[in-house]
Amino acid sequence: MRLIKEVSQMKIWSENARKNGVRIALVPTMGYFHEGHLALMRKAKTLANKVVVSIFVNPIQFGPQEDLKEYPRDLERDASLAQEVGVDVVFAPNAKDMYPQVYQTYVEVTELSKPLCGAKRPGHFKGVATVCLKLFNIVKPHLAVFGLKDYQQFLVVKRMVADLNLDVEIVGHPIVREKDGLAMSSRNIYLSPEERKSAVCLYKALCLAKEKVKKGLKDTNILQKELEEFILSHPYTKVDYIEFRDPEHLIEVREITEPTLLALAVFIGKARLIDNMIIEP
Ligand code: AMP
Repeated sequence: MRLIKEVSQMKIWSENARKNGVRIALVPTMGYFHEGHLALMRKAKTLANKVVVSIFVNPIQFGPQEDLKEYPRDLERDASLAQEVGVDVVFAPNAKDMYPQVYQTYVEVTELSKPLCGAKRPGHFKGVATVCLKLFNIVKPHLAVFGLKDYQQFLVVKRMVADLNLDVEIVGHPIVREKDGLAMSSRNIYLSPEERKSAVCLYKALCLAKEKVKKGLKDTNILQKELEEFILSHPYTKVDYIEFRDPEHLIEVREITEPTLLALAVFIGKARLIDNMIIEP
């Protein structure tokens, strides 16, 4: 496996691979790997000849009050895990190479970026779309694998690819969970043992909603209030949002008559965790 840190070197590798007819898959990440990341890499391996994993804690997708500085990093461990999975290249550029001082170009997916995390994290999806477009231009993948844990991100990137006529297939991968249901996340490292116990309430709330809808409760206003109460009954929790949206355009849903995205963002102590589920009527 190769570790490439320079943008220019990554471009040369990709140009050569393309010339040789190699099908390239990209898995964009911010590193500090867990089983969720590794599952995306394994999926990528089944879809392409060569897999590139990017590791880049993208500064422009973090707000000024967010955890850019504290975000966990361990390149050595990540590289060895990627190698075990059979990744061909780890691309770990530095921020100055990606965003030199003169940098001034951004991509914005206007509507899909507005609700949910977009409303709570202004500029976040502009940063995500911009870095993904840059990574696509540098790595030149035929396809890129994204986790559905970041459901809105998946939609934003897919929209950008369609709108800008990019030749990258965007593949979604289901959410990988811990045994008790907590969605794996690099940010779970922020949780104290007591907070970790509470953190399972996101997944439990999703399951509770699924059950209630199955039993006939379709009014999302009532569901939202019941879920909020349920989550707040766990210590260290603060609800950022609980929303029901249509899974394609993210338009608000008042009554569940079609498969509906239930998306949650909850602070557990300092850690802001997200999770989601498609709820069938
Ligand atoms: P991150 O490093 O958190 O930016 O995530 C990199 C990629 O891994 C994104 O496409 C995420 O959606 C995906 N990912 C993160 N956690 C999970 C998970 N628990 N299950 C599936 N995909 C995940």
